[in-house]
Amino acid sequence: MLAVSYLAGRANASKEQASSAVRAYGPHLPVAGEAPLDSPIRGRLDGRAWLEHITFHEAPQLMHRLSTACLIVILYLTGMRPGEALELRVGCCPEPGPDDPRPHGYQIHGNYFKGARDGDGKHVVGGLPRDTPWTAIAPVVRAVRVLERMADGPLLFPVKTAWASTTSGSRKRRGEALTCQGANARISAFTTWLNDYTARTRPDERIPDDPVHVNRFRRTLAWHIARLPGGRVALAVQYGHLRASTVTDGYAGRARDGLRRILDIETARAMADYLDTVADRLHRGEHVSGPAARRLISAATGARNRFEGMFLTPKQARALLAVPQFHVYDNPEAFLACNYDPAKALCHPDRTHPAGRSKSPAIDRCDPACANIARTDTHIAALRSEIARLREEIVEPATPMPLRERLGQRAAQPGQALEQHERTRITNREETDVDR
Ligand code: SF4
Repeated sequence: MLAVSYLAGRANASKEQASSAVRAYGPHLPVAGEAPLDSPIRGRLDGRAWLEHITFHEAPQLMHRLSTACLIVILYLTGMRPGEALELRVGCCPEPGPDDPRPHGYQIHGNYFKGARDGDGKHVVGGLPRDTPWTAIAPVVRAVRVLERMADGPLLFPVKTAWASTTSGSRKRRGEALTCQGANARISAFTTWLNDYTARTRPDERIPDDPVHVNRFRRTLAWHIARLPGGRVALAVQYGHLRASTVTDGYAGRARDGLRRILDIETARAMADYLDTVADRLHRGEHVSGPAARRLISAATGARNRFEGMFLTPKQARALLAVPQFHVYDNPEAFLACNYDPAKALCHPDRTHPAGRSKSPAIDRCDPACANIARTDTHIAALRSEIARLREEIVEPATPMPLRERLGQRAAQPGQALEQHERTRITNREETDVDR
């Protein structure tokens, strides 16, 4: 079979002209086995092009994969409900105007469907425009721009596209937007395709078999923001931005049912899990040091008595958040636990003004002099391992001299924390004795 459309495109001719030229040439036409497109391959993995070229016949499939990747980015990094994302339209994310107070403050406009009712209380099938647009960070804006370039109609996720046949499960719905069922089918096809690619190139990066559904992204995002705000994951910086946006902009939702509510619940669960772990360790005789050592011990024992290590319901999560004493954030990157008291938080320069006190710490800007710091034996053990690793790197012959100096400074910095821990650490028992 000859790719006549492809040949016509390459020759800048009509399909009829290409067919007629092929017929005139006869059966021995010298053509290649593939039909590569001119499109440059810009995506890099480990510094190398992820693909040699895109062929004419795989382009429609890759358009589907690209559109699905954009859907995943939007769902995961906005916390939008799936139905809201699938109804987004071209032009939903305008460039900020010159008067915008935040120069990079992109916003996404769209409709909401849950609880959308008209003046008579009737459900509005096509949804209603949201009063508060979603705040979008850079990867989301890029995903929207890519989809806008692919769109040939008003919708970003239409069921029918000019570039590919309809996928299974894409039954028609309002305005021909893709259904959640259709989106799940595309995500499943995307996962299979990606796992096939990684099996050939990067076997360690396989997507697990646990099915990925559109309605799981909001909780997953909240879980990650709550538990890994300064973590090692590649998106740590984005999570940091998202936490700030969530708190300051009502990110992705109205306070009542937006992402912020889910994030609050996940934050409370992360705190409860951590306090329960600390309570276990204290029971086994672990020590704690730092200006907030007593506060950490009392929070861990208090939370254990009250919640008994259970998985918190939303009501229990709200009860935990209502007690400032339980606001404890583990910060493994800085080898400490933050016992958050906004009045003492050195990461917030405006802490001295009650109105400017933030509800959560900026742990990516943690100040080692802060009075909210406590360190457990576990933190100190991890800190010692890190110092040992740095020292090994310093004596490596391949380490360049300027880097050695920097590593040496980093290895020397925590000395005071180690010495202070050895000198001032207390246990739960001692704390109980002191209280008496
Ligand atoms: S400076 Fe560090 S310990 Fe102090 S409140 Fe901020 S994050 Fe917590």
